[in-house]
Amino acid sequence: MRQTLDFLLFDWLRAGDLTMRERFAEHSAETFAAVLDTCERIAREKFAPFNRLADTEEPRFDGERVHLPQSTHEATQAYAESGMLAAAQDYDVGGMQLPCVIEMAGNAFFSKASVAMGGYAMLTSGNANLIMAHGTPLQREVFARNEFAGRWFGTMCLSEPQAGSSLSDVATRAELEDEADPLGPRYRLMGHKMWISAGEHEITENIVHLVLAKIPGPDGRPVPGTKGISLFIVPKKLVDERAELTGERNDVVLAGLNHKLGYRGTTNCLLNFGEGRFTPLGRKGAVGYLVGRPGDGLRCMFHMMNEARIGVGLGAVMLGYAGYEASLEYAKQRPQGRPMTAAGKDAASPQRPIIEHADVRRMLLAQKSYVEGGLALELYCARLVDELHTGDDAAGAQALLDVLIPIAKSWPSEWCLEANSLAIQVLGGYGYTRDFPVEQYWRDQRLNMIHEGTHGIQALDLLGRKVVQQGGASLAALAARVQQTIERAIHTDWAPQANQLAAALAQVGGATKKAWSTGEPEEALANATPYLQAFGHTVLAWLWLDVALSVQGEGDFAQGKRAAARYFFAYELPRIDAWLAVVARREPLCREIRAEWL
Ligand SMILES: Cc1cc2nc3c(=O)[nH]c(=O)nc-3n(C[C@H](O)[C@H](O)[C@H](O)COP(=O)(O)OP(=O)(O)OC[C@H]3O[C@@H](n4cnc5c(N)ncnc54)[C@H](O)[C@@H]3O)c2cc1C
Repeated sequence: MRQTLDFLLFDWLRAGDLTMRERFAEHSAETFAAVLDTCERIAREKFAPFNRLADTEEPRFDGERVHLPQSTHEATQAYAESGMLAAAQDYDVGGMQLPCVIEMAGNAFFSKASVAMGGYAMLTSGNANLIMAHGTPLQREVFARNEFAGRWFGTMCLSEPQAGSSLSDVATRAELEDEADPLGPRYRLMGHKMWISAGEHEITENIVHLVLAKIPGPDGRPVPGTKGISLFIVPKKLVDERAELTGERNDVVLAGLNHKLGYRGTTNCLLNFGEGRFTPLGRKGAVGYLVGRPGDGLRCMFHMMNEARIGVGLGAVMLGYAGYEASLEYAKQRPQGRPMTAAGKDAASPQRPIIEHADVRRMLLAQKSYVEGGLALELYCARLVDELHTGDDAAGAQALLDVLIPIAKSWPSEWCLEANSLAIQVLGGYGYTRDFPVEQYWRDQRLNMIHEGTHGIQALDLLGRKVVQQGGASLAALAARVQQTIERAIHTDWAPQANQLAAALAQVGGATKKAWSTGEPEEALANATPYLQAFGHTVLAWLWLDVALSVQGEGDFAQGKRAAARYFFAYELPRIDAWLAVVARREPLCREIRAEWL
């Protein structure tokens, strides 16, 4: 994986050029490589050996405290000490001022080694970055700085039992108590938050929850819709302006842990706010400090959405990678079956390793095309985030990101799950047991189509908003970029693939128009998920062609990349015909079928 990562980063995306920008001027190819080396080493030593333990010894709640394996404490502390919690932040707040693409690449090692143990740190980083972007100077100093230092960890509390995809139905209430608290306007929060990852643990002395809640309107009732939602910092233990614990426990408590299919090493919590179990500052109600303006909660929370969704996509890719490497290794060792010749099989001849069978190679090549293509997709998007923040065409980068982010989140969630399933298949019965790691990768992976916007919600976002916004400007920006690759490829050996890609692009454009030709959202969006699949496969075909064009030489590495690219065009891209057919004719079946028939 490291060779592919380095190739994509430094040869294909030319990440080294970023050091010419003022913000990254103190970096060099060597410092970037050193960051990757450090992450790779900590992931190998502190995370990977304990990934299975984090799964089998899942977090346990004894009614008072949550217990985690000691290795999770040690791994997360090692991560904190590496400085990666503040990787992209300014030097003057203790950060490393790394480009997004290098930060993401570094974090990829942890996702591959143990996605569940890495969850605590990833959430903390996202939480603290958000406070840096929207908090007051004191909130940054007290909360974000201590999170970057690894003294406290953070969470994101959006979901509630009755409000998952539909955050407008958030029911947690926030009532103003003291406008003038130095830590920010102080509110009391009451409500329940469901599915909160890392919501309780004793890895750090405190936990900084970022919570979405509604401030009641003048009639005393919550404002309907997303506009009424505000964002609050709710520390598990109260702190003062010098970031010292006051000794008072906030009124936020763990009601229970969820027991999950995978991702078991990260605690997942139902949290109760303001039930009166504790009475901070003399009364019940969870103390929370407003971040940003009232009603601005979702905007603040989604400010870092690009990075968060690329992070989920990259995590999915790395789980796919872990399965691919494990099954590749196994396929080289496992003897089974004999060559089929015109004269039949010679039962007296030795068995061949299963990697010699074309069908096993098909499964390995499929995985390779999904995980390496997915890695290219995520790094490309992370590089666009750097263009957005430090490049000279922020608007162009934004337009591309708008249409690519739903793909960055959803494509690896679906296809690297398929990769994990193929990894199990390569191992046969052994893959289905807990004696090999591939079943855990599949279970861990299964979350990714669910959180950070479900698959269906990503599809609605893409077809319902992103490809039609500003008269289709974002889609046109992507099409122009794809066209550039086609033009570079058309006079090379890759001309057949370039033509195939041009046809696919036209097909996506045509289906988009036909889906919306009646102007009825219900008709257009009934097949949004097949559209998402076709769009994603077209994007991946483009990236594979672009990667193939930049591969040099005839060695195994280069030939492997070319084979994966050819595989994608031969076996995967043709699938879009079926997906786009239902989109283009606005197939009414799923929309019209009666619930009683199901
Ligand atoms: C392990 C795990 C960790 C999580 N961590 C966190 C966390 O740290 N913080 C946090 O806030 N949340 C977290 N979540 C919550 C997660 O974000 C939600 O599960 C997700 O948003 C979906 O909400 P839901 O589970 O209520 O499903 P629902 O919203 O009920 O969706 C169920 C199904 O209906 C579909 N659906 C819903 N609405 C529509 C619609 N309008 N149109 C078409 N289809 C629709 C969905 O696509 C889905 O397939 C976590 C969840 C899990 C399982």
